Amino acid sequence: MFRSRGSKTSSTENQAPREVVRSEDEWRSRLTHEQYRVLRKAATEPAFTGRYVDCHLDGTYHCAACGAELFSSDAKFDSGSGWPSFFEPAVADSVELHSDRSLGMERTEVLCRACGSHLGHVFDDGPLPTGKRYCINSCSLDMDPEQQ
Ligand code: FE
Repeated sequence: MFRSRGSKTSSTENQAPREVVRSEDEWRSRLTHEQYRVLRKAATEPAFTGRYVDCHLDGTYHCAACGAELFSSDAKFDSGSGWPSFFEPAVADSVELHSDRSLGMERTEVLCRACGSHLGHVFDDGPLPTGKRYCINSCSLDMDPEQQ
């Protein structure tokens, strides 16, 4: 039987239970329409439209769905792609990677481990030290600027 990605919580699928579990109705009421389409339906926001593409503030990027800490401004770089890009997650365990063969492409999807929401994709053309480019939708993120 087909089950949507968001409902995968059993250990038989080699995945820890989600820390944050909400019904689709709850997600829909908590998120903007665009955030719901991206975070819960794996849509992609148009390039160069997101609020964090050109953000150079110091701070921490959290999951816009559940608040989990995901990326640090220390790992952000200008990729020219039109989406905020990071060379590594703030905490390795904070994201989960899935093979994604949609749209006729072989890609690796990046999800928030805590709530299972879609964040973006990761590619192997990033800068040192990791060579990774986590290409993340702005609307999947909430940035918390560092207090000076
Ligand atoms: Fe999350």
